[in-house]
Amino acid sequence: MKILVIEDEANIMQVIRLYLEQAGYTVVAATDGIAGLELHAREQPDLVILDLMLPILDGMEVCRRIRNWANTPILMLTARQGEDDRIAGLEAGADDYLVKPFSPRELVSRVKAILRRSAGNPEAHEQHATAEQSGTPTPQANSKDEIRFGGLIVNLPSRRVIAYGKQIALTVKEFDLLVALAAAPDRVFTRETLLNQVWGYSYLGDGRTVDVHIGTLRKKLEATPGIPHHIQTVWGVGYKFVPTPSQATTA
Ligand code: CA
Repeated sequence: MKILVIEDEANIMQVIRLYLEQAGYTVVAATDGIAGLELHAREQPDLVILDLMLPILDGMEVCRRIRNWANTPILMLTARQGEDDRIAGLEAGADDYLVKPFSPRELVSRVKAILRRSAGNPEAHEQHATAEQSGTPTPQANSKDEIRFGGLIVNLPSRRVIAYGKQIALTVKEFDLLVALAAAPDRVFTRETLLNQVWGYSYLGDGRTVDVHIGTLRKKLEATPGIPHHIQTVWGVGYKFVPTPSQATTA
């Protein structure tokens, strides 16, 4: 597994590289935003660790540009405590974030949690299989590899989503959220449950992370006017997947 680290502070880079290499990852490094984008295109890493404050091109813009054409998982590093920055990072397409100063062990465990869910890992399917056996309503024409509701088709091995005739490019977390919800239709998920299930650990109750990803997921799924809105907010509780929405409502 190859990880691209884009970070301009030499000390931090050194620590990150050390811990990632000890954990068995190959590290490629860039110290500014443009070099990071070039390296991303050339090396096609499995994951990107991206500092927010970078020379030449800041992390937010790097994140947006990567997202224009790739769904590589992105873990953003931010020195700022402000929630706005973290939310903006997630909205720009980051899958997860860590606030500096962070523990290198925490970084490695986040990286593992993200990669565990990425393409080609059989563990990504466990969740779906378990939900299927737990007595929840059975999706139409379901199989182990595919969840299908009307015109919404989620293929698990290829991590491809087709929403009413249109292929939708989702990030790792958006896809995992959709699978978590759709595998247990009509079940109401709290933000906490989704954090645990999709991110693999608890975020000390930072449910905004879930809200932001649900927001970007919905925006992509419901881009075409008139198509059913499967993901619905349960006010004061969380979210659920509705197999047959009665009509397209405005979210
Ligand atoms: Ca920096």
